[in-house]
Amino acid sequence: MTAQILDGKKLAADVRAELAHKVAALSGDNVPVLAVVLVGDNEASRIYVRNKKKAAAEVGIVCEVFEMSDTIGEQALLAVIDELNENPHVSGIIVQLPLPAHINPLKILAAIRPQKDVDGFNPYNAGLLACREPQAVVSATPKGILRLLQSTGMNLAGKHVVVIGRSNIVGRPAAMLLLNHDCTVTITHSHTRNLPELTRQADIVVAACGCPKLVKKDWIKFGAVVIDVGINRLDGKLCGDVDFEQVKEIASYITPVPGGVGPMTVAMLLENTYEAALRQPTHECCHGHGHCGCHKHND
Ligand code: NDP
Repeated sequence: MTAQILDGKKLAADVRAELAHKVAALSGDNVPVLAVVLVGDNEASRIYVRNKKKAAAEVGIVCEVFEMSDTIGEQALLAVIDELNENPHVSGIIVQLPLPAHINPLKILAAIRPQKDVDGFNPYNAGLLACREPQAVVSATPKGILRLLQSTGMNLAGKHVVVIGRSNIVGRPAAMLLLNHDCTVTITHSHTRNLPELTRQADIVVAACGCPKLVKKDWIKFGAVVIDVGINRLDGKLCGDVDFEQVKEIASYITPVPGGVGPMTVAMLLENTYEAALRQPTHECCHGHGHCGCHKHND
């Protein structure tokens, strides 16, 4: 078997095209505004922020980057978040991670107003997701993973998913989201014993551990779907957590790196920002009162 490639680049382009139409239909004051808080001078963070800004511009979302020195204190950063929370023109706020070591990321993420938390990293939104509440803002990478799986047309109910990784930004929310879609989910991590034995039982493997090419051909059941979230550098080249060349021989579907989950993450962030704009009090149909019948207020 040679796996079909799950083309995240193409799917993300489709999502952006649809979003561009929806954003164009909003009038001036309602154009979504994404505020990105960037602390310090991390090269990878700068690249991620540049990509988000470019993708936002493509769909008509305004992306404003607030650059802070890495010497900023926690209180000062909280004050920046508070200002953005109160700014009625800002639809969504993200804080680019990682933050400098002297700042507690959870404290900062928890300060983002849940309705504007378009990364879905506020523990309140993570809690809503864990409670299967539909109003949870779901973080972009898990949402992108779900969309890629749905694009295969497969019925997710009852599928055994093994998630490799339990981070707050990928592994955990991905596991919760797939559980909410009736999958049977096994979450694994660096203390898991006999990982290949577990992955061999999976209908779907989601690899999000940051270990280059960890997942080998003999870890995968014939015909399983493999989603590779990892972004690693090996010998100067980008690669995922899955040994793509090997695993594509046995999987039914597989995401490439680059061009799989990465582009979907950005597209889902933009979708979350658009949805957050509809929740703003300035949203023209009902000024946020919820009597307009717009689908967002009926969730
Ligand atoms: P973290 O480092 O925060 O978490 C890694 C997780 O993997 C941890 O739970 C860790 O276990 C687990 N782990 C590490 N080594 C192993 C192992 N050998 N076997 C099993 N589990 C292991 O990483 P992130 O979740 O932030 O990111 C994971 C990967 O995804 C990275 O490569 C990152 O660059 C990429 N990424 C890609 C995105 C995209 O859009 N494509 C978005 C975000 C991240 P433990 O908890 O025990 O330490």
